[in-house]
Amino acid sequence: MCTGMWTAGGGGQGGAQLLEREDGGVEVLGSEAGPLGNSLVTLPVQVRGGVDLEQQALNRRRRRALTRAGLRDRGPSKRFRGCGRTIISTDAMVEVKVAEGVGHYCGLMTCGLVWVCPVCSAKIRHERSREVERGLTAALDLGYGIEFLTLTLRHHLGHRLRDLFGLAQKAWAAMRVDKSFRALMARFGLRFITVREVTYGPVNGWHPHFHLAVVTWGVLTDAERAEVEEGFWRAWSHQLERVGLDAERGPGVLLKPCTSTDGLASYLCKVGGDDGQMKPAAMELVRADLKRGKSGHRNPEEIAEDFVDTGDLADLALLQEYWAATKGRQMMTWSNGLKAELLADEVERTDEELAALERGGEVLMKIGRRAWGRVLDLDLAVHVLEVAEQGGREGLVALMRLVAPDDWWYTVQPAEAALNEGGGL
Ligand SMILES: [Zn+2]
Repeated sequence: MCTGMWTAGGGGQGGAQLLEREDGGVEVLGSEAGPLGNSLVTLPVQVRGGVDLEQQALNRRRRRALTRAGLRDRGPSKRFRGCGRTIISTDAMVEVKVAEGVGHYCGLMTCGLVWVCPVCSAKIRHERSREVERGLTAALDLGYGIEFLTLTLRHHLGHRLRDLFGLAQKAWAAMRVDKSFRALMARFGLRFITVREVTYGPVNGWHPHFHLAVVTWGVLTDAERAEVEEGFWRAWSHQLERVGLDAERGPGVLLKPCTSTDGLASYLCKVGGDDGQMKPAAMELVRADLKRGKSGHRNPEEIAEDFVDTGDLADLALLQEYWAATKGRQMMTWSNGLKAELLADEVERTDEELAALERGGEVLMKIGRRAWGRVLDLDLAVHVLEVAEQGGREGLVALMRLVAPDDWWYTVQPAEAALNEGGGL
């Protein structure tokens, strides 16, 4: 059922309509004389069950874009508010591209705020997990061993995240200059890729924890693993105690080997995911945004989604506390020299650079500043990408004719990739 309707000008063909459905979706109806004839481009909104993986990925992307949009007015910085909106290309045009069936924009600002922005965070984490995967592959090729470790601490509802996170970080830093732990590090050649993560539970509040990939000189025996785990436990619990915190022996320090049983593909690296599915370990380490919380535990992306869905100000307060506590902190760090050794040929890239990475693909359309402003005003930024994916140039033309005069945008043809004057076709 349609709850709203616009008929936008442009193209001189008239009759095409943009229909807003009750569920927030949009349908584009072409006129008889229009490029789509009577065809209908339907844009799904709700995440549906039973969809394939590709569709799930697209749904997640849509969800992230909608969450970013929903947080915009509450976001912590101007940079975040401009993410995916502000045009930065030299020709002041926004390009609509499709790469392997997935639409995206080029020429827009990206904020690169890994703790804040659902869209940038997903991209940065994806790139970082690939980096980890390449690094761990190189480590295994060099004969190093790899262990996975989670460091947690005990906390309760009254703890502020800023304090917990800061103290946990302090304890972890102090461990690495602790004399006996340094001896353990030297003996087993321990080096780390550390990923910081935070979830929130209704009973015990904020739960900051560290996931570590521990690189060792060689594959550990069971006895050696027990020794390393014991060493970790002693150092971690001692340093936590010094900052007024503690941990439980069981979940506080957990070491899991990543060993080769059937070759590279399997050890690279399967560990059980939260949902019982097997996930590559590198993905497990970095993609906090893909994990779904258990027993009421939510990750910040889920809190953000809940806030956008419900407007619950308690969730907004949690997000604001989280943004403040994580500001300026690194999501992932590598021990000194480890990355340079394992990924010697790679250039170090910042989060901002990863978020802004160009994804390539074919340019279908260029949208000028005024037309882009209309796309934003009508909240169509996600829909434009979906139309590009499903309807190609013709679909985009039909949509944009409803949005802005057709001299405010133009299609780019595959061969000439050049301006097509006139009707935009
Ligand atoms: Zn962003």
